[in-house]
Amino acid sequence: MKENQNHVQTSELREKVLSWYHQNKRDLPWRLGKDPYQIWISEIMLQQTQVTTVIPYYNKFIKRFPTVFSLSTAEVDEVLSLWSGLGYYSRARALHRAACKVVEEHNGVFPRDRMKLMELPGVGPYTAGAILAIAFDMPEAAVDGNVTRALSRIYGVRNDVTKTHAKKKIDSFAQSLMTGSTPGDFCQALMEFGSVVCRPRSPRCSKCAVNKFCDAFAKGDVEQLPHKPLKTAPKIIVGAAILLSRKQKFLAVKRPERGLLGGLWDLPGGEVRKDERPEAGLRRSLFESLGLVLGGSLEETGRIVHLFTHRKLILYLFRGEINSQRVRRRGFAAHRWVSLKTFLDLPHSSLTAKAFHSLNLKEIS
Ligand code: SF4
Repeated sequence: MKENQNHVQTSELREKVLSWYHQNKRDLPWRLGKDPYQIWISEIMLQQTQVTTVIPYYNKFIKRFPTVFSLSTAEVDEVLSLWSGLGYYSRARALHRAACKVVEEHNGVFPRDRMKLMELPGVGPYTAGAILAIAFDMPEAAVDGNVTRALSRIYGVRNDVTKTHAKKKIDSFAQSLMTGSTPGDFCQALMEFGSVVCRPRSPRCSKCAVNKFCDAFAKGDVEQLPHKPLKTAPKIIVGAAILLSRKQKFLAVKRPERGLLGGLWDLPGGEVRKDERPEAGLRRSLFESLGLVLGGSLEETGRIVHLFTHRKLILYLFRGEINSQRVRRRGFAAHRWVSLKTFLDLPHSSLTAKAFHSLNLKEIS
């Protein structure tokens, strides 16, 4: 498939997108300056997460860790605490490791070099490009999902954009646009344009400032682009968890550092096997991972459904009580008996927050 590059006037396209941006850009806290540390934090938070969700997390994070030095000396648990609810927790752990590396290997100064930036944990080509362009005004492209969508439509890239060949084309179109005097502004303009105008569904083509250059608009296949393979249905897993009390304290368990939701605090429980009922699966998991044998009946309080990237979890929730059994921990990194308020102050995932919400606990207020 031949792309539309010849028909697109690079400088005019740039000007139109920039002019649209200057008239329409949103006031976002990370746009107040050009501090590479702040740009980096915002870009990591914005991965897979909407701008409106990120703003309060970003403000709180920057208030607590205003510099790369303050982040590098923090406890990982505190970083995870501030990340609680944002999801993709490996990002927070990588952020902390990267801050240490910037301090130890670069004296706290972010390198102005794509390859060196990409040596930092959690920094890929996109984030490196965004830091270089936005913070240092260097002509380096940053291609995220919004940019890929807009450019595949404008230039008529009709190959699968998850494949290397098409990715390279999009990267090269993006790089060809990074000329002129304000690469940082243009980088943000293109991302914002993709997010606000060239949206995945119902793009605003009739009012679009660049529709006269747009191949997909001319050919009428805007909503078919970018071309991606069909998503496979998420794998369904069933789990069970319990709010387990002993003398008015509740058992919190810390997940192992590696693996799903690693390092976060959670309700005890585990996966339910295909041949088990949820309560039986819960009893087995508690015995296997904590050495606990629950007597009597358990109160099933409901169930929640939670979507991970490739998995859908159906989680059955229970309440129960034990007397004086000792916890013999095997499947978790740590455990604590805490009040509900303390439990919720520990770093936890949005799944755990959802479970607490569903348990509808009067004890919290
Ligand atoms: S015309 Fe439509 S598809 Fe083309 S760039 Fe504008 S919004 Fe996107």
